[in-house]
Amino acid sequence: MPKKPTHEEHCSFCGRPASQAGMLLAGLNGFICHDCNDQAVKIFREQTAVNQKENFKIQDSDIPRPQEIKTFLDQYVIGQDDAKRVLSVAVYNHYKRLKYNAEHGDKNDVEIEKSNIILVGETGTGKTLLARTIARLLKVPFCIADATTLTEAGYVGDDVENVLVRLLQAADYDVAAAQRGIVFIDEIDKIARKSENTSITRDVSGEGVQQALLKLLEGAQVSVPPEGGRKHPEQKLITIDTRNILFICGGAFDGVERSIAARVGTSQIGFKDDDTRRQIDRKNLLQYIQPMDLKKFGLIPELVGRFPVLTYLQPLDRDALRRILTEPRNALVKQYQELFRMDSVELQIPTETLDLVVDRAVEYKLGARGLRSIMEGIMTDIMFDLPQQPKGSTFTLTPDMAEKKFRL
Ligand code: ADP
Repeated sequence: MPKKPTHEEHCSFCGRPASQAGMLLAGLNGFICHDCNDQAVKIFREQTAVNQKENFKIQDSDIPRPQEIKTFLDQYVIGQDDAKRVLSVAVYNHYKRLKYNAEHGDKNDVEIEKSNIILVGETGTGKTLLARTIARLLKVPFCIADATTLTEAGYVGDDVENVLVRLLQAADYDVAAAQRGIVFIDEIDKIARKSENTSITRDVSGEGVQQALLKLLEGAQVSVPPEGGRKHPEQKLITIDTRNILFICGGAFDGVERSIAARVGTSQIGFKDDDTRRQIDRKNLLQYIQPMDLKKFGLIPELVGRFPVLTYLQPLDRDALRRILTEPRNALVKQYQELFRMDSVELQIPTETLDLVVDRAVEYKLGARGLRSIMEGIMTDIMFDLPQQPKGSTFTLTPDMAEKKFRL
């Protein structure tokens, strides 16, 4: 309980009088000022982080089964069944691997390799959402990094390590938790090398960043400055072991279909292939993506090798966009309905109105990402007047109302 200090009272740590140090907190035999308290918290936090041991045990019951993972994902992500199945298995195996390593220590007969994942699909199709939802299920720290910002800042390596600082922050500086976390790196395709020729003068192609990333993926002990930024000699570093961190990367890989088309169109190995060729679904070539297509696109082979799990997301069609508006657990329509309910008004949005919103998203090629801004454009004025609506009434958002907003 803060005790009002007299002028004679000093902070027992820095010695400053209350007149300089401000409020002092009283203990049994002394006082502490705000600054010393901050300092102490920081030291405790760093020390705890450094001392954390990886002493966790994974019980079988902790490991979610692939079907459970998929069912959970289904609640938040519409469609993308192939990606969900692949992710579910990869995460299941990731857990089993953690358990195996925890039980066998370094005496492993068989080394189970990590199942880092690459998700290929247009922007706004749910790559980040899938990764985020997985992290929510697993209750592990999760962070998102953007590969393009790593490129801009240079290729010295420090900047790539800052990805781990973000994970550490997400884990509230619990190193052991961070070491089992999930990192989602978006726009991995943007650090592809632009041509097969490697420039010896300057690394403008992102290959330097790929190399730095490779180091993290290879399961290294990486020292990071706890507050982020560049390493300063005076800053205490925290060592993070990346062996058990699951990396999920996402990218649109614009144009990769060309290399897929060339490959699937020309493979003529025997009978079976002739059969497959006939059945090739040309509208969705991404489903045939292979690691070699990523190499062709400009990812270095070593990096591709570190991502054994490769899957794709479908472009969202009208039906998927419609379902995204209403079906996920936190669907936009449900969110607005909740907001209205807090003003004791029931919000109804007829199918025809939803169709108009979807038309708009398709027209502007905004995908699911655009649904929110379109809805917000329609709803803002209505929500401005919402508190004036009679309590207990029903508000129906007619197609006309939506149309009117579009015309503005
Ligand atoms: P990406 O990472 O593929 O560019 P995001 O996952 O960030 O796309 O998607 C942007 C937003 O669009 C998400 O926050 C979500 O609201 C919505 N969204 C995208 N795809 C889906 C989907 N398949 N199911 C439900 N919502 C989706």
